[in-house]
Amino acid sequence: MLLAKQGFKVDVFERLPPLVDDEGNAQASIGPRSYNILLSERAVAAMEAAGAEVSGFDVPNLRASLRHKLRGGPKEGTPSMPPGRSKVANRGVLAGALVQQCLAQHADRVQFHFEQELAAIDISNSAVYFKPVGSAAQGAAMASATAGAGGGCSGCASGEEGGGLGPVAVGRGGVAAAPPEALTQRRTPASADALASYTFDLLVGADGANSTTRAVLQRYDPGLACRLKRDGMEFKTCVLGPAADFMPADKGGVGTFQTWSNAKLQATLVGLSTDDGQLRCAFILPGGVHATLRTAADYEAYLADAIPSLPKEAVQRAAPQLADCPISNGGTIVRCTKLNSHRAVLVGDAAHSVYPTLGQGANAALEGAAMLAATLQEVGTDDMEAAAAEYSRRWLPNALAVADLTEEGFGGNKRAYALNLKLLQLISQMLLHKLLPFLVPKPAFFQLNTTRMPFAVILQRGKQELLVFKCILAAVVAALAAALWRSVGRAALAAVGLA
Ligand SMILES: Cc1cc2nc3c(=O)[nH]c(=O)nc-3n(C[C@H](O)[C@H](O)[C@H](O)COP(=O)(O)OP(=O)(O)OC[C@H]3O[C@@H](n4cnc5c(N)ncnc54)[C@H](O)[C@@H]3O)c2cc1C
Repeated sequence: MLLAKQGFKVDVFERLPPLVDDEGNAQASIGPRSYNILLSERAVAAMEAAGAEVSGFDVPNLRASLRHKLRGGPKEGTPSMPPGRSKVANRGVLAGALVQQCLAQHADRVQFHFEQELAAIDISNSAVYFKPVGSAAQGAAMASATAGAGGGCSGCASGEEGGGLGPVAVGRGGVAAAPPEALTQRRTPASADALASYTFDLLVGADGANSTTRAVLQRYDPGLACRLKRDGMEFKTCVLGPAADFMPADKGGVGTFQTWSNAKLQATLVGLSTDDGQLRCAFILPGGVHATLRTAADYEAYLADAIPSLPKEAVQRAAPQLADCPISNGGTIVRCTKLNSHRAVLVGDAAHSVYPTLGQGANAALEGAAMLAATLQEVGTDDMEAAAAEYSRRWLPNALAVADLTEEGFGGNKRAYALNLKLLQLISQMLLHKLLPFLVPKPAFFQLNTTRMPFAVILQRGKQELLVFKCILAAVVAALAAALWRSVGRAALAAVGLA
């Protein structure tokens, strides 16, 4: 959307099929295994920059956050309302909403090609090859109907100017939605062997943590190196039940963020609810534990022991879903030496996947995409290689910082349970900030979701705050030691005749 808004002709390739309703509108998957995510201020700002109006879709504002207690009733705990403009979205619903908005606003410039998998990149000739998968391999895939004849190029942009705005239909809530005829069966390669080739001015690799684009670019370009680190935690998803069942009556069940955490077992149940009011949860456990829980009865027993405050009905609802759900790894951290190669760039998880514990992956993906568009606009696209390099120069520090932030403090899930100096500093500084707001600033780390302070600045400030905390701690320890020496040490030495 950001690129189309600037007049680029954009082709978007996705290997999965779209979910389409009777009228041809792209829908999102919201099955029991899909999960909800928290979108922070930076994500909201990026969507605004793109002109994406998601308020008419099922993307409610975050209304309350509650860290539950392990014992007592299901509503035990003190709800809080985090500042800022956070929103809750099902990941699939959000993707569907953005596709709809894009087709509604830029049907003349953007074309979606579903069930097309990236097969090869010819970097010297700026060409990509896609192969049809799924039903597309049988000649039945859907594409969006517009953007002129093919040959242009998970997002290729070319700089030619498009015409005026395409047809705009009005969907629910008065929000522009894709017109019914937006998805057609045109432009579908006829056989599984048919590779469709597209030339590009800029190739945007937004193909996730296991990015093929990244892997291919690394082969071409020795200057592009990436380090991958997998989390030792694993998760499964389930719908725990109506979110309102676990909130005080006045908070309702829509737009809530709820967690239960058992430090001893390193077990976390984290859930978010959208307009359907259901609490969709990820149940995170140390690697290997899920594999030992084979049946619904195993999960029932485990949940009852790990989170005694959960009502029996919720446990009975979640247990069979957990037993059925495949185990997912807790995530991968990707750190690259740069985010560009020739006329290609990496964005989102392809560029900087992080563990989900800090809830920053989609936020960083959207903010990074906005940074790419802003860079192209600012530096121009006459020299696309230079523009791609400039995007990398501007965004890489933040990409690396969000990875570092994820790993420290509350980052790597295992560490979230261990009392460490960083956690101590955050708690002490937050308490002091509440007491003396004019003297002690709010920890930078706690401004991740409420501000658009760059990740790199948050990381830098966090380091400074930790240094100050260590100095104060050292001074306090030294003062205590001196006091102890004065009151006990000297007397002890005198007693043995040494002073
Ligand atoms: C349990 C959980 C909770 C999370 N919670 C949050 C949260 O609260 N807040 C937050 O900000 N983030 C959260 N995240 C992270 C967030 O979901 C990801 O960071 C985000 O989805 C990344 O978006 P992306 O578009 O870069 O990659 P993806 O969402 O992985 O999308 C990549 C797309 O590329 C397609 N693709 C891949 N390879 C090819 C190919 N070869 N050819 C064609 N298409 C291809 C895939 O099908 C996919 O549709 C969470 C993640 C998990 C697992």
